[in-house]
Amino acid sequence: MAGASSTRAPKRVLLAAPRGYCAGVDRAVQAVEHALELYGPPVYVRKEIVHNKHVVSQLAERGAVFVDQETEVPEGELVVFSAHGVAPSVHANAEARQLRTIDATCPLVTKVHVEARKFAEQGYTIVLIGHEGHEEVEGTTGEAPDNIVLVQTADDVDELEIEDPDRVAYITQTTLSVDETSQIIARLRAKFPNITAPKSDDICYATTNRQIAVKQLARECDLVLVIGSTNSSNSNRLVEVAREHGANSHLIDNAAQVREEWLDGVRTVGITSGASAPEELVEELVSFFRQRGADDVGELRTVDEDVRFMLPKEIRTEFAARG
Ligand code: SF4
Repeated sequence: MAGASSTRAPKRVLLAAPRGYCAGVDRAVQAVEHALELYGPPVYVRKEIVHNKHVVSQLAERGAVFVDQETEVPEGELVVFSAHGVAPSVHANAEARQLRTIDATCPLVTKVHVEARKFAEQGYTIVLIGHEGHEEVEGTTGEAPDNIVLVQTADDVDELEIEDPDRVAYITQTTLSVDETSQIIARLRAKFPNITAPKSDDICYATTNRQIAVKQLARECDLVLVIGSTNSSNSNRLVEVAREHGANSHLIDNAAQVREEWLDGVRTVGITSGASAPEELVEELVSFFRQRGADDVGELRTVDEDVRFMLPKEIRTEFAARG
């Protein structure tokens, strides 16, 4: 961590609200915690349950075993599927290995899977807007691999060649930049005027709200620090949005990663956190700035959130069975 210096000590700290945990992450983390309580370790988890190093290492300490593929889980054991969702082939592999499964896929990711299946059944070519290699994109693509084409940028749209341009639909990853995705959709509409959209936006409420909040924050701050891990899509988007709206911005896992030179001339520092970053990391960062002399700590609230999801049904069933 950088050492104290009066010339590099913002006086004011402004926190974005909403920030941090979304309902899908909260549910997924709780699913692993409850699984550990109910069944005891080891509880296998396919991929990172959510894209946050801190959360993953805390769960690992409690007995969660993170694996890359379901085929690494010993036969008959318990495995939790992450919030990002899995392809049907993963369920099939798990069944073949007689694994007990808890599906912590966020319901808002499941919504996109359902759309993919529905569009495929109706014979659409489906343009999936998303990032290649992201687990959510892999899971969604697995629902209709023969129908889905991936588009990552507006320029990718120009390259698309689709046999029946009147039978095209689009869906998106849930954690994209709202503004950039609008541009891609506009390009798609220009190229395929009859393109079919999902009934409601696929970019989720948490991603949207955190971007609205960080835009406002960036206008008021010289520097915006985003707490989140490097593989967290929505956290990376927050950094981009903050930069687009006039602030310097960096993604950090925790307060120890603050670099002294970022603070040069900074009077107000903004803090936000991605949907998978726990609040304790924000509190540590605020303490870091308080120790350096920040005496004005406030919150900039743009949207109220009250979304909650029920725990995965496997957990609810087990609780019910145990009375
Ligand atoms: S970021 Fe959105 S889609 Fe992802 S887990 Fe949270 S609520 Fe669900």
